[in-house]
Order: sequence, then C-alpha cells, then structure tokens
Amino acid sequence: MKNFSDLGVETSILNAIQEMGFETPTPIQEQSIPVFLETGQDILGLAQTGTGKTAAFGLPIIQLVEPSNRTIQALVICPTRELCMQISKDLGNYSKNKSSINIVAVYGGSSIERQISDIKRGAHIIVATPGRLMDLMNRRALNISTVKYVVLDEADEMLNMGFEEDVEYILAETPKEKRVCLFSATMPKSIRNIANRYMNDPFEITVGKSNSGNVNITHQYAVVHARDKYAALKRFVDFNSDDIYAIIFCTTKHETQDISDKLIKDGYNADCLHGDLSQGQREKVMNRFRHHAIKILLATDVAARGIDVSGISHVIHFSLPDDIENYTHRSGRTGRAGKLGVSFTLLNMRENGRLRDIERLSNVKFEKILIPSAEEVRDKKLVAFIDTIVNTEIEESIFDDKVMTSLRPLLTLPNEELVKKFLSLELRRFSVEYLNAPDLNTTSGDRTRDGERGERGGNVRGQRIFVSVGKKDGFDIRSFKDWVAQESKLDWKELHVDVSGVFSFVDVKEELAEKVITALNGNTYEGRPVRAELSGEKPGGSREGRGGRGGDRGGRSGGGGYSSRRSEGGSSSYGGGDRRRSSGGDRDSRGGDRERAPRTERSDRSSYGRSEGTTERSGYGTRDGGRNRSYGGDKPAGDRPSGERRRRRD
Ligand code: AMP
Repeated sequence: MKNFSDLGVETSILNAIQEMGFETPTPIQEQSIPVFLETGQDILGLAQTGTGKTAAFGLPIIQLVEPSNRTIQALVICPTRELCMQISKDLGNYSKNKSSINIVAVYGGSSIERQISDIKRGAHIIVATPGRLMDLMNRRALNISTVKYVVLDEADEMLNMGFEEDVEYILAETPKEKRVCLFSATMPKSIRNIANRYMNDPFEITVGKSNSGNVNITHQYAVVHARDKYAALKRFVDFNSDDIYAIIFCTTKHETQDISDKLIKDGYNADCLHGDLSQGQREKVMNRFRHHAIKILLATDVAARGIDVSGISHVIHFSLPDDIENYTHRSGRTGRAGKLGVSFTLLNMRENGRLRDIERLSNVKFEKILIPSAEEVRDKKLVAFIDTIVNTEIEESIFDDKVMTSLRPLLTLPNEELVKKFLSLELRRFSVEYLNAPDLNTTSGDRTRDGERGERGGNVRGQRIFVSVGKKDGFDIRSFKDWVAQESKLDWKELHVDVSGVFSFVDVKEELAEKVITALNGNTYEGRPVRAELSGEKPGGSREGRGGRGGDRGGRSGGGGYSSRRSEGGSSSYGGGDRRRSSGGDRDSRGGDRERAPRTERSDRSSYGRSEGTTERSGYGTRDGGRNRSYGGDKPAGDRPSGERRRRRD
C-alpha cells in the first residue's frame, strides 16, 4: 500500500497531515494526487463526501501554489458556505507549515467588506461559493484571470442549487490555460456537459461503483400514513435513543422549523439548520451539534451541505428529497470513516414509488422495517435500563455516613417496591405516552416493493438464538456479527444480531439456526465458555431489523436509553452514571451524552445475562400486543408543504 510520500507529497505537508491523523491515502487520494502533481491533466472525480476528496485536490494545490507569486493561483468553488468554511479550514491545516500561503474563504451571509480586505492583503487560494464570488467579481474586488487551478467541488450539488449559469460565467473569466478538477457525487448529463466544455481530456476517477452508496450504510424505510409521520419519527428515535446522533432531513425550511419545534417541545435534544437563520445562529447550532450538545439536527438539504461531522449514527429522511440525487448526499453524512450507519426513510404511501427511482439511480438496496410497537420501545428501554443498573459499579466514596442517613427512607423499603419505584420513574413517560399507542405501520404498506409480505423487523427472520456474550465482552454489532459469521461460516447477510450488555441475539433463517448453535455453543471467546441456544423468543426487536441501527459505538452497553431526553419523571442522575439531560424547551441543553459506568466483572451479572435476561425480556409486554389494531382510515397524503425548489444564493 502506498503512503503519502510515495504519492509525491512534500515533507512540510506530510508533517502537517500526519498531525491530522492521515496515515494512509484514501483511494481517491491515491489516484488523484500523483496525477495532479505529476501530469498536466484535468481530473474528473466521481466521489461522495467522506471519501477524502478535499485532500485529494487540496494537498497538490498547497504543494503547487507558489508563495512568492502574490496573485490568485487557485480557485475552489463549492455550493455552500459550510463547505466553503470547511475546505478553507482543511487547506489551512494542510499548509500549517507553509504559513506564507494565504487562503481566503468568500461566501454569502458574512461581511463582504471584510472579505474584500482579506483578498486585498493577498490571496493565493480563494475558496468560494458561486454567488458571493460573482458579487466580488462584479465589484472588481477579485481578479481570477491569473488562476492556474480551478476546483469545482460537489459540482452536481451546485447545479442542483441553480448555480449552473454562475459556474459557467466564472469559468469563462478564468484563463484558457489552467487545470480543472471537478468532483461530483453523481454524474448527470449536465455535469458531463460542463466537463466536455471546460475540461481537457480529464483523467477520470471513480471511487466505488458509479453512483453507489457507501457499503457501511444500511438503507431502511418504513411506510406510515402521512398524518402519523411525526409519531413514527418519535418512536424510531425513542427506540434508538441510547446512541442516536442524527440528522433529520426535511424538504422545506418551514417543515424543518416545525418538526424541530415539536421535538424540542416534546423534550428531545434537537435543533435545526435552515436558510432563514442568520450566519451566527447557524454557526451556533453547528457548534452545539458538533459537540453533541444537540443530538438531533433537523436540516434542509441546502443547509446541510458541507457539514462534516463524524460519528453520525442515523440519517433520517422525514421527507424524500425533491431531487432524488440528493438522497446520496444526505445518506453520505453517516457511515463515515469505516463506521456503520443507517439511512432511514419515513415514507407515506404516496411516496412509496419513489424508492424504486432512488434504488435505481443511487444503486442502493432498501430494507423495509416496521416502526416499533409501543411495547417494543418500552421493552427495549427496560432491558437497557436493567442492563445499565446491572453494569454500574457502586461508587463507595459517595456513600458516607451523611448520605447513608439520608438514604434511610429508601433502605427501609422492600427490595421489590424500591426497584418498581425506580423503574416507574425511569419509564413513566413511555408508559404514559405509549399507553394504548397504535401500530403506526400501514397495512397496505406491509407489502414490499417486490410484492412480498414485509416481515416485521427486517428480512432475515426465522429463529432467534440467545448467545451468552455481549458488549461486556467487548463486542459491538459489527464485531459480534463478524465473529458469528466467522465461527458459523455464514455470510453477514444471513445474520441479524442484537448485542446487549451481557448477552446477544442472533436471528437467522430457520434452517441455519442449528448451524449457528453448533458453531457457538460450547465454543470459547477469549477463554470464556460460550452458551448458545434457541431463545424461545420470536426473531425481531433487534436493533438492526426493528428501526435499528447497523452501527454501534464499541464498548457502550445498552444504556438507559434516553440520554438525549428530558425525563418527565424527574429521575435525574441514577446509579452512579451522570445522566446529563437536555433541558428541553429552552434549548439550552447541557450536553446529552451520558458517561458510561465502568465495566464490572463478568461474574457480577452472569445469572442475569443467561436466563433471567431473556425471560424478563420476553415476559415484558407482549410482542404482538396491539399489533393488529387498525388506526383510523387513510387520510390523503400530502404532509409535505409544497416543496418548492428555488434558486438559492448562498
Ligand atoms: P472529505 O471527503 O474530504 O470531506 O473527508 C472526509 C473526512 O475524512 C474528513 O474528516 C477528513 O479529515 C478525513 N480524511 C481525509 N483523508 C484522510 C486520510 N488519508 N486518512 C484519515 N482521514 C482522512
């Protein structure tokens, strides 16, 4: 495997990127950097965000720009101010050891005078959004007739946003002799036309399959009535809330604000990003999201472009994008840096048909899931909460004499009563909200697009196998699935897993169950004996199949479930874990990430993990309770306010 030095990157840049943690080049970097540095060829890259394309063009530009030449030598054009700021920040980092290179970012929504004075001080590289760049050109504040390198980043998005004419105008103002690099996640005809007109026999790079989605992303959808979308969204979030860090896409600014307001009112740790917010407000929201003070970000497509936040667990499409190609852009926010992610679409029945187009155009395969039932949400909360308590180490230093005296009223309570009181506090909101809560899945929507009956919770169902290892043994969903696949010699695709703190479940087709049990039962994992047997539970309810998330943050155990929620029962910190909650309505969240309690020894919880864990689980709430209740008649769809697409200037 080649390293950056093999690609021709100079030492000062090598040192800078090493500090950024870049050890080996990504595929697009491996292909584009030598071409950029060593040949005079233009580059046409079919690549999505998250592939490392900024460095693919950024490192050669930093290397090739001549500090002593005080004219603008490189121009990077991108669709949004967020991306513009991100690229200029990245370029600044790459050139850390070459301080004589000036990079100026110009974008709308920020003082043009300041940008003009920055340009006047001397810019080697301009990173710009098309609207502001045109503005500066018209004011004669910037001269691009000297540029040697032009990069069009996220070109398809620029065209989607109506910047085609602007881009052509800008390109026409650049000198004939120049290098052009064009990166795009998709390659519609309009991009091909630009490439044909403005590029000279470009070197073509495709990262992954053309238009293919990221393999780390699981694409799921559920069909609900339009009027139930918000309730379904909440249920999905509740089911996954122990580790959710999500972007929810809406089509219009109004919808974005509306859903965000509702979620905040309902106690979720959410906020929104759209074009009606001032630059300052947008930056504030982004900062809080980046620092996990907000766990759920609602955004329009335009506002979300260029957001580079790592660790997004879910991308949720509250509405499908008007432009199908935006689906790829949206989904690309998750499943980055080798982590698994879920892209989940909430469809109303009218939107059902559009999935086919997305599958075809974006080359992704959708898996139908069902919105978890109220019982399943509660069941999962309960299991997770028990799991947290079982795994919490007692912090003896807290319990001095004074505290012990204060605790006396609790200590005199019978054990069962005490446990029930704590659980009541923890689960009160769910008990109230989900009392008699209907099944939100549409019956007609149960039909998959292939005409088959959609199975609850996913497409690999048959037998559920209990396995006596879990997160406590260091597993997360990915590593557990890997291990099961390896031991049983089955393919990943044939397995659905649900990893809990001290035990796990594997769901497989009936005929494969014996094979898995034989492979795992009596086996050892890191020297410990493993028990595997039919769980007696029906498959389903797993994180993967049931509104679930394919990824996991390794080592976290189930968690009490709503780290991002405000508890109405007022159960604040509990069991030694500092459960910092969002303060909800005032938006002044104090950061929703709960610290995990240290692991306890395996022996502390072995009895729980084996039989009690499973019986409790299945005994709590009937899995198909209320499942077949019908919920009113169908209301005409059309929950989405008119999704007008307008030309938007940054
Ligand atoms: P991009 O596609 O340019 O938005 O990059 C996606 C993310 O990958 C950014 O957070 C980069 O900092 C990171 N990245 C890019 N190249 C590398 C590399 N060679 N090694 C590690 N991380 C990288």
